Amino acid sequence: MAKQSKTAGKSSSSKEQTVLNPRTTKFEFGGFPGALVLTLFLPVFTVLINKQLTPDAVFSTDPFYYLNPCRSKELWIPYLAWFAGLAVFDLILPGKSMFGTVLRDGTQLRYKINGISNSFLLILVLGMRWQITDGQMPELVFLYEHHIELNIITILFAFYLATYCYVRSFIYVNREPILALGGNSGNVVYDWFIGRELNPRVGCFDIKLFCELRPGMLLWLLINLSCLHHNYVVENNFSGVNDALVLINLLQGFYIFDGVLNEEGLLTMMDIATDGFGFMLAFGDLTFVPFTYSLQARFLSIQPNDLGRQRLALITALMALGYYIFHSSNKQKSDFKQGKLPQLKSIQTQRGTKLLCDSWWGMSQHINYFGDWLISLSWCLTTWFVTPLTYYYSIYFAVLLLHRQQRDEEKCSEKYGRDWVTYQKRVPYKIIPYVY
Ligand code: NDP
Repeated sequence: MAKQSKTAGKSSSSKEQTVLNPRTTKFEFGGFPGALVLTLFLPVFTVLINKQLTPDAVFSTDPFYYLNPCRSKELWIPYLAWFAGLAVFDLILPGKSMFGTVLRDGTQLRYKINGISNSFLLILVLGMRWQITDGQMPELVFLYEHHIELNIITILFAFYLATYCYVRSFIYVNREPILALGGNSGNVVYDWFIGRELNPRVGCFDIKLFCELRPGMLLWLLINLSCLHHNYVVENNFSGVNDALVLINLLQGFYIFDGVLNEEGLLTMMDIATDGFGFMLAFGDLTFVPFTYSLQARFLSIQPNDLGRQRLALITALMALGYYIFHSSNKQKSDFKQGKLPQLKSIQTQRGTKLLCDSWWGMSQHINYFGDWLISLSWCLTTWFVTPLTYYYSIYFAVLLLHRQQRDEEKCSEKYGRDWVTYQKRVPYKIIPYVY
């Protein structure tokens, strides 16, 4: 449901629509060739790295087996049930109602924030299934044994979902939907990849927010649990579990619930506020997050050796430090924006808002990214230095954060003009104080 502003109520002429949805002229990821290469490379990468880490994992090399849902229905049915089940819970479970950021036409979308009730229900169902199946948990066994096959199904599903969102962005009555500024180039492949429509919705169901936090993030949690279950039942015959595997489940479980429970924070982030929903986000949310963020757990699920107390303590301390920086800096910015910290030094901008340049936000322009990156490193360290493959995550995350920082800098420099130059002089470091 949109909160209508004065402009939104006016009848739309084609001129108004051109202004509302200008043509994209700046291209990211190397434009059309880059989008094409990433679309082909990233899905293959997720399958190959999983296969490399757990060589015994089975999957069919016949792509038509997965493309034809009648032949691979034992994979499609559970995945669709998972996706649709979460969507139904998202629609019916209680939550508070919040408005997103003001859109280009002056309207605001209403979002239902119910991460708490959804998480509570999932934990309840898992606990009941543990009781009923006497710890056998066939759904976790299925997830573990069909890991790579389900990875392939999510790639295809992301492909179909992105195609659906792209096509529907052209189908409208009276008024064109708001398009993403970056996804309206006219190049089919590029716009499909970046995402053409800003907020694709079916009724009040917001596809982008749902995909960001539910089917992928919670599948990541389940995959980690399936690894723990496999290690306990199959590798150790109910007699114990690898301590590093317990740790990664705890650390990542904490991070996942922290994200799902604080979902309103996402409403102002660029993924929701400015990015379109195309293959990049669909694949990132539904495949990349669950099937590559769980690599440490997959690797540890077949490792016999424990880490020992000292290493466990070191890794936990690193995660705690990263989380402290990440959480308290994000909270400080949010509190400051709500006017709760007037004593902190800031720069008054021409736009009327203030740029904080004190405390955490005096150390670097994105000190929160540094905390988040330390968290990623602590997860990789759970596999110690046995394989370089699990460190892919910290490397990938560093690239993601660098790219994000550059996009944000471009956006802020356009938005704040000379005030941003003054801010950069006051806070010269981008992410890591005294380093970068
Ligand atoms: P930031 O939280 O750094 O937000 C940037 C925005 O905040 C700017 O566009 C500007 O918006 C405002 N801003 C920037 N500097 C200041 C300042 N000094 N004072 C006041 N306002 C300021 O970045 P993100 O939204 O990208 O990230 C949020 C969190 O999410 C981070 O902790 C990040 O690590 C995490 N994250 C995690 C990912 C994952 O996959 N795990 C992926 C991406 C992010 P405005 O002008 O509108 O005020």
